[in-house]
Amino acid sequence: MKPIYVTQPTLPPLEEFIPYLEKIWDNKILTNGGTFHQQLEQALCDYLGVKHLALFTNGTIALITALQALRITGEVITTPYSFVATAHSLLWNGIKPVFVDIDPVTLNLDPNKIEAAITPQTTAIMPVHCYGYPCDVARIQQIADNYNLKVIYDAAHAFGVKDKNGGLLNHGDLSVLSFHATKVFNTFEGGAIVCPDEKTKRRIDHLKNFGFVDEVTVVAAGINGKMSEINAAFGLLQLKGIEEALEKRKFIDARYRESFENVTGIHCADTGSHVANYAYFPIFVERNRDALYEKLKTNGIFGRRYFYPLISDFPMYRGLPSASPANLPVARKISNEVICLPMYSALEENEQNRIIKLIKEFA
Ligand SMILES: *Cc1c(COP(=O)(O)O)cnc(C)c1O
Repeated sequence: MKPIYVTQPTLPPLEEFIPYLEKIWDNKILTNGGTFHQQLEQALCDYLGVKHLALFTNGTIALITALQALRITGEVITTPYSFVATAHSLLWNGIKPVFVDIDPVTLNLDPNKIEAAITPQTTAIMPVHCYGYPCDVARIQQIADNYNLKVIYDAAHAFGVKDKNGGLLNHGDLSVLSFHATKVFNTFEGGAIVCPDEKTKRRIDHLKNFGFVDEVTVVAAGINGKMSEINAAFGLLQLKGIEEALEKRKFIDARYRESFENVTGIHCADTGSHVANYAYFPIFVERNRDALYEKLKTNGIFGRRYFYPLISDFPMYRGLPSASPANLPVARKISNEVICLPMYSALEENEQNRIIKLIKEFA
């Protein structure tokens, strides 16, 4: 039987990409803010309902640059329950991560625990909309306002998610997206920073191009974070199919949920009231998570334990006082129970049935 992985990128028919390539070959502009780059920035602003957006070569460089753009230093409060790039972006800026525990329902930074972690060195909060589930953005903003902190959302999972105020990406000072091959919307590799004003967008555009403002002026030690024309062109094509892909994910999500409703020992995450993107389908296994994980693997189903281990358990973080297990009991429990099941638009019904059957047998 063919292996089933946790995700599979949505690829449009190859022949639909050829005209884009022909254009690139014709005008010979490969990168540095070419036509496709400009078009994709505009198209994403329209689709996501945001004012400004700067494309990047990947989400990690975008996170690193977002911190630079706001001149963040000292300590930043963040979650241990995320992909390691969240905290790595802090270390790359010489910033000390301060881990705060998560809320057991939203799986995101617990707003009730943030204040206790604030010190005179704290300059920002970097929450993650884990699995595309919205953080408590109102409470986080209130705390940030009270203590004069910036908020940079790692929104790598939150493409297209909407809350009652519209696009989730409009909250905080900046939001960072990833368009990696494994994400809901992909450009092979890619990412973006969403920002509310023109001036910040300009600074970000300088920073992603070595700090160049014009031919002879460099205003900052910028990096090369530019997205190429090939990736931007692919993004434009990918965007055409996004609604259809999301519909299929929604259907798969509903089938999983329904199937596990009365299965003891297996819990699904809360659906919430937001417009979801069905990026992931985590289940929480009360007992013997790893036995189920292995059983699925033996049967050719490669779920992933996102996020296990916790970021705070990796060697470059575990010495931090905030990484101590006593500080992060909820994140630890969730991390020991989670398996993300295969979730992608091309997942077939019989494949999903096989996954569900194996899990029910196990339970
Ligand atoms: C994927 C991801 C990133 C990194 O994005 P890349 O585009 O792979 O560099 C950062 N944070 C989270 C939460 C992610 O899932």
